[in-house]
Amino acid sequence: MFGLMQDHPLNISSLLIHVEKYHGDTEIVSKCLDSSIHRTNWKTIASRARQVANGLNRWDLASGTRIATLAWNSYRHLELFYGISCSGRVLHTINPRLHPDQISWMANHAEDVIFYFDITFYSTVQKMYDTTPHIRHYIALCTEEELMQLDDIANYPKLLAYETWINAQSSQLEWPVLDENSASSLCYTSGTTGNPKGVLYNHRSTILHAFTAALPDAIGLSATDTVLPVVPMFHVNAWGIPYAAAMVGAKLVFHGQFSDSQSLYHLLESEKVTVAGAVPTVWMSLLSYLQTQNLKFSTLNRTIIGGSACPPVMIQTFLEKFGVSVLHAWGMTEMSPIGTVAGLRNNHRNLSNDEIVKIRTKQGRVVFGVDIKIIDDDGNLLPSDGKSSGHVLVKGPWIIQNYFKSTENILDDGWFDTGDIACMDEEGYLIITDRSKDVIKSGGEWISSIDIENLALSHPEVAMAACIAYKDPKWDERPCLIVVPKPSTQPSSQSIKDHFVDKVAKWQIPDFIVFKDALPLGATGKILKTQLRKEVLTENGLIKPDLLEGQL
Ligand code: AMP
Repeated sequence: MFGLMQDHPLNISSLLIHVEKYHGDTEIVSKCLDSSIHRTNWKTIASRARQVANGLNRWDLASGTRIATLAWNSYRHLELFYGISCSGRVLHTINPRLHPDQISWMANHAEDVIFYFDITFYSTVQKMYDTTPHIRHYIALCTEEELMQLDDIANYPKLLAYETWINAQSSQLEWPVLDENSASSLCYTSGTTGNPKGVLYNHRSTILHAFTAALPDAIGLSATDTVLPVVPMFHVNAWGIPYAAAMVGAKLVFHGQFSDSQSLYHLLESEKVTVAGAVPTVWMSLLSYLQTQNLKFSTLNRTIIGGSACPPVMIQTFLEKFGVSVLHAWGMTEMSPIGTVAGLRNNHRNLSNDEIVKIRTKQGRVVFGVDIKIIDDDGNLLPSDGKSSGHVLVKGPWIIQNYFKSTENILDDGWFDTGDIACMDEEGYLIITDRSKDVIKSGGEWISSIDIENLALSHPEVAMAACIAYKDPKWDERPCLIVVPKPSTQPSSQSIKDHFVDKVAKWQIPDFIVFKDALPLGATGKILKTQLRKEVLTENGLIKPDLLEGQL
């Protein structure tokens, strides 16, 4: 027997219809390329998203057609998010920090037909122009006058100015009712080996993920919130925040290309942001800026941190010095991305700050909708005892089934192997120890690079730290710690090693400390360990001798 409730497929357009009707006047604020502040609201975003859809309809693009964006976080990008997906096409967000050849490869693999870009990326468009024949139009996210100021436009006849194009379209449109399993957006994972792989989200997965993202123990979004997703819209749809914000009617603030600490702080304060989301490296710089300038947050009360492990010292500083709660989350592109968030439980209500920091340092409890299991190398289920580490497998309605255009079976009896190594404690908190490829295996025992990095970051003179394995004839692998000292400090390698004594087992203490001025960061702000290994290790996996002055 079927229930007798109405049958409404879960379509992303329902978010836009809702937010326009009930929160139309709620602001969307963007910092533009020229540093000026642009203000609009959900009603205008919805109206312009319909213009985007009408423009695409005029070109008669079939549903499922891939349409690319190469853009910073902004109101125009938000219009495209909705206009493209709600009209039945697939929004393909591309990471502009990739090499033009990689971008061109992705555009070709996805068979993008229209390509929207911020004019800061015009040189990329020029480089890829001749290698992407199926792109019919390159639309610069600017006015006609701004387009005219670009060099050499006569050589690129497929260029159009977004404002001219969108203004020629009607804002009248009934959103089509789509099968909720229709593809809505496409995001390629960086992939450390081989070519990038496309993760193809659908309307249903996006809406269900938005419900979960908004829940109190996840980001806990409400109509009273002002949200600044520092996480780029080209990285897993900005963690789903543009959808969850529409679901609850929150105000959105976009920082554009300005992710330096001073600009971010100014925007957080001037727009009265209550919640922000970013990878740890962004917060690391921002916190140090605040501390050196003796500044405080006046409205920010929580921040969602994920993408890589959040060090406890950051959680503690946020809590004790700034009164901001850190929501440490774990997930990945293949998971839309949210899998776990480190919210507290009922029995944690009277804990001290130190105990809270310990809990929030874990990657968190699994959110409803996702299921997790941890298995050993032979596929045996491991107990939730806080120490048995193994491979993390996940399943759920917003977890990948297969990569775009791939026929390879990537699931194991319905479970997706995340490639992460973790254990789960008795209360159901996931504790990630490593990416499987980053684990350091010394004498048959695992050393967690995350644990070593977190401890290093609690040294008063360490600004950034990354731990990698180098080859050792006796132990197979040993840990080497690469450290960026805080400004005006010169920590010695011995003082850093001493910092580990009595905190970890002796054999887990890194043998060598390599000092660097900066660490290579990937397009999403994560430390690029593959690049770092190239910088620090020889082809045989040994530490380059010149980096070890005085330590051999
Ligand atoms: P991406 O698909 O680029 O977002 O990368 C996903 C990967 O980032 C995960 O598989 C983890 O290895 C890592 N990651 C994400 N969040 C965390 C976290 N909170 N702690 C540790 N690693 C994380």
